[in-house]
Amino acid sequence: MTISFKDRVAIVTGAGGGLGRAYALELAARGAKVVVNDLGGARDGTGTSDAAEKVVEEIKAAGGEAMANGGSVTEYEQMVEMVAKAKEAWGGVHVLINNAGILRDKSFAKMEPADFDLVVKVHLVGSGYCTKAVWETMREQNYGRILMTASSTGLYGNFGQANYGAAKLGLAGLTKTLYLEGAKNNIKVNTLAPVAGTRMTEDIFPPEAFAQFKPENVVPAALYLVSEEAPTNMIIGAGAGAFHAAYVTMTQGAALPEGERTPEGVARIFDKIIDRTGETVPQSGSEQAMTIMRLLQG
Ligand code: NAD
Repeated sequence: MTISFKDRVAIVTGAGGGLGRAYALELAARGAKVVVNDLGGARDGTGTSDAAEKVVEEIKAAGGEAMANGGSVTEYEQMVEMVAKAKEAWGGVHVLINNAGILRDKSFAKMEPADFDLVVKVHLVGSGYCTKAVWETMREQNYGRILMTASSTGLYGNFGQANYGAAKLGLAGLTKTLYLEGAKNNIKVNTLAPVAGTRMTEDIFPPEAFAQFKPENVVPAALYLVSEEAPTNMIIGAGAGAFHAAYVTMTQGAALPEGERTPEGVARIFDKIIDRTGETVPQSGSEQAMTIMRLLQG
C-alpha cells in the first residue's frame, strides 16, 4: 500500500517548526498542497515571526506546493479566511492537522488564571475554531480527515501542566463527538499523542533522547491518521518510531439495590466497581446508560 496525498489540500496549524513542520514537509512530498499556518511566536505564545513563510520556502525548494498563513488559531475569523484562501487557490480542504500549541507551565498553586485561559484557548478552542472553519467544506465534499494533537499530559497527567493537560484531554473529547457527527460525510477524526524533541521539550529531554525522538519519527502516525485509509475515533501515541493506542474504557461496574444506595454502599462495592475484568471501550456516550440498564436487568 502506498499512501499518497496527490490532489489533496492539507492545512497544518503551528507548522512553522517542530512537529507541524515535519508533517507539512512530508504531506507536500507525498503530493499534498499544504497551507502552512503559524503565528510564529515564542513557546509561551508571545510575539510573531515569518516561521510559516520559511517552511513554505523549504517545500517549494523541494518541488512542492504550499502557501503560508500567519493567522492565529485563536481568531476564528482568521481561520475562516485561511480556509477560504485555500479553497480559492486549490478548490477544497481535505486534511486538517490541529497541531498549534504553546506552554505556560507552572504548578497549579502558582498558575495565573490568564495562563490557564491562553493555553486552553490555543490548544482546545483553537482546534475547535479551525475544525469549525473546515467542517462545512468537508461535509460538502463528503471527505475529510482531521487530526487533533493531544499529549501524555492530557491522557495521564504531568506535574506543572494543569492548563495544558485540561486542554489536551479536551481534544480527545472533541474527537469523540466529531467522529460521530462526521461519519455520514466520510469525515474521520483521530487524536495523536506525540513524543518528540522540539523546542517544547528541549529542556526536558537529555540530548541523546532529543535526537532519538526526532519529529520525523512521529510523522508516519500523523500521516496515516489523515490518509484515505485512516481509521476514526482512535487515540494513537507515537515517538521514536514506536506506536501505541490509548482507550477510554468502562468497567462492567456493579449496582446497589434500592435502600442500599448510600456512600457506605459505594465503599463496600468499590473493588467491584473498578474491577477491569470485561471492561469495554464505548463508541458513544449512550453506551454508558445502556451498560447500566444491562447491569440492572442482571
Ligand atoms: P513547537 O513549539 O515547535 O510547535 C508549536 C507551533 O505552534 C509553533 O511553531 C508555534 O509558533 C505555533 N503556534 C503557537 N500558537 C499559535 C497560534 N495561536 N496560532 C498558530 N500557530 C501557533 O512544539 P511541538 O513539540 O512541535 O508541538 C506541536 C504540537 O504537539 C503541540 O500541540 C504540542 O502540544 C504537541 N505535543 C508535543 C509533544 C512533544 O513531545 N514535542 C508532546 C505532546 C504533545
